[in-house]
Amino acid sequence: MATERTLSIIKPDATKRNLTGKINAKFEDAGLRIVAQKRIKLSSEQAGKFYEVHKERPFYGELVEFMASEPVVVQVLEGEGAIAKNREVMGATNPADAAEGTIRKEFALSVGENTVHGSDAPETAAQEIAFFFSGLELVG
Ligand code: ADP
Repeated sequence: MATERTLSIIKPDATKRNLTGKINAKFEDAGLRIVAQKRIKLSSEQAGKFYEVHKERPFYGELVEFMASEPVVVQVLEGEGAIAKNREVMGATNPADAAEGTIRKEFALSVGENTVHGSDAPETAAQEIAFFFSGLELVG
């Protein structure tokens, strides 16, 4: 399997509860390397643009408001099959459906406030990484 990079976001519910270190330990224990990371506060416009693909979904407004409510940690994770591996470590979108040991099972509060975001495919990973990071910020 090829070495990949994926975009991860530690969401406001987690930064607020001081969970960044515990979540990063889960990534590192799974063999994912954090090759870029920064803590930022998204504006509603920026959050809306990032989640533009969900614009027509009923939860879009709530999602944008949540993502702009507190700082987030945006990061690039690298490893063998990193996109799928990260989705596995994250667990299902709804924490009620998430497997034991996953980040969302352990930490998520609800289907909306679900602690982490992870890219779902190589094309979206490339777009999402470029949304937050310049090439100079990526140190492999
Ligand atoms: P994932 O983040 O697991 O890829 P989706 O792409 O389906 O999931 O949804 C993006 C984000 O939108 C979710 O992580 C969650 O924060 C929010 N979301 C999804 N479904 C709902 C819902 N039914 N109600 C509220 N928020 C939701």
